[in-house]
Amino acid sequence: MVVIDEKLEPILNEVLRRNAGEQEFHQAVREVLESLGRVVAKHPNYANNALIERLCEPERQIIFRVPWVDDKGQVQINRGFRVQFNSALGPYKGGIRFHPSVNIGIIKFLGFEQIFKNALTGMPIGGGKGGSDFNPRGRSDGEIMRFCQSFMTELHRHIGEYTDVPAGDIGVGGREIGYMFGQYKRLTNRYEAGVLTGKALFYGGSRARTEATGYGATYFVERMLATKKTTFEGKRTVVSGSGNVAVYTMEKVIEFGGKVVACSDSNGYVVDEKGIDLDLVKELKEVRRARISDYARLKGAGTHYVESGSIWDVPCDIAMPSATQNELTGADAKTLVKNGVKAVGEGANMPSTPEAVRIFQEARVLFAPGKAANAGGVATSALEMQQNASRDSWSFEQTEAKLATIMRNIHDLCAQTADEYGAPGDYVLGANIAGFVRVAEAMDALGVI
Ligand code: NDP
Repeated sequence: MVVIDEKLEPILNEVLRRNAGEQEFHQAVREVLESLGRVVAKHPNYANNALIERLCEPERQIIFRVPWVDDKGQVQINRGFRVQFNSALGPYKGGIRFHPSVNIGIIKFLGFEQIFKNALTGMPIGGGKGGSDFNPRGRSDGEIMRFCQSFMTELHRHIGEYTDVPAGDIGVGGREIGYMFGQYKRLTNRYEAGVLTGKALFYGGSRARTEATGYGATYFVERMLATKKTTFEGKRTVVSGSGNVAVYTMEKVIEFGGKVVACSDSNGYVVDEKGIDLDLVKELKEVRRARISDYARLKGAGTHYVESGSIWDVPCDIAMPSATQNELTGADAKTLVKNGVKAVGEGANMPSTPEAVRIFQEARVLFAPGKAANAGGVATSALEMQQNASRDSWSFEQTEAKLATIMRNIHDLCAQTADEYGAPGDYVLGANIAGFVRVAEAMDALGVI
């Protein structure tokens, strides 16, 4: 286990005490504080005025009731959350997640990560996150709409283009953003396009936003591979999940010449040695809202489906975990290393457990942490905000070119920071320090607030 600097240990202990039971939040804070010892040694001023303690305490946390009526006429109650974590660099920015596992600890971990990720993009956005324990699985379109409207009926008073700009995340895609934007517009009587990102093109969305997180993660890994003078060409790649991030990761990996041999959902994974047929995955997941098991059923010979089990048992050169937090354990990491994995790029937020990260780093596997590798989604959201502010709309090529540049810059910033702080190749340390320094400079300038 990494030892925490003695100045930072009391801060971590206080976070653990004041946020009892919030394991994922503890994990996220611990990882960042483990990296910051080298910074406070070099710049002791960052530890002044309780700056790090303030960074670990959300500026505002909102928890609310979300009542809605299902198709049978029964009233259902869910819990809604928005954690406005840090606005030193700009309006709070971060997605909304609808999943039964959502609780305040999960939203705080995601909001905390978002602060550093957003800072790494170099764009003027603070960090926040929201969501609900609502389970969209199996719900009708009408139920989804009524839930989104009720959720926004409370949330609308806390957000705005200069205040807090939510987007999608697990369980929240274009359809849900549309229903939430519609309700916001109705409640406020304002066509405030910049209040939400991930909108469809015909009402203020940005080209390439849907693709941005997956494409961005792939650009990051491409750059990381280039440091070892290699590419995706011919590399066996495994991508977990089959949602937004996974689908567009697979698309870009295939474009870069990689061969995606497996993907998954929360029930199991499918292996296709000929290479995953992405059109079929898109049809199943984006149109039919079906299960990944249907892939093997429809494709037949040459593919197989494994119920439960770990997708990381499938041998690969490159692993891109793109489903959810802590989906890749220490045991999975050992299997991947044994099978010769060369690079791991996190499309999801914190998908690798701390033990898994340590195993990859000790085995000298190139490891791209989510807060850097998946920043393309939020960066393109910020590009959407720019287009909304200027009432402009850019071409796909123009937007993707900006995304590619941002991702390569983030990669280089993390790599250079890791070098500067004496840990070459440690992208976790590089991302944490580079993100922290940007936020800390702004917080310091704004005084004790
Ligand atoms: P989606 O809802 O589109 O897809 C999530 C995918 O992960 C689905 O295939 C889902 O399967 C699977 N999944 C969810 N929970 C679990 C679980 N407990 N175990 C196994 N598989 C699971 O979400 P996104 O693709 O948008 O998000 C994926 C990850 O990427 C998340 O960590 C998110 O925070 C992160 N992220 C997303 C961004 C974005 O722009 N969308 C930006 C940056 C990060 P099933 O359908 O069975 O539930």
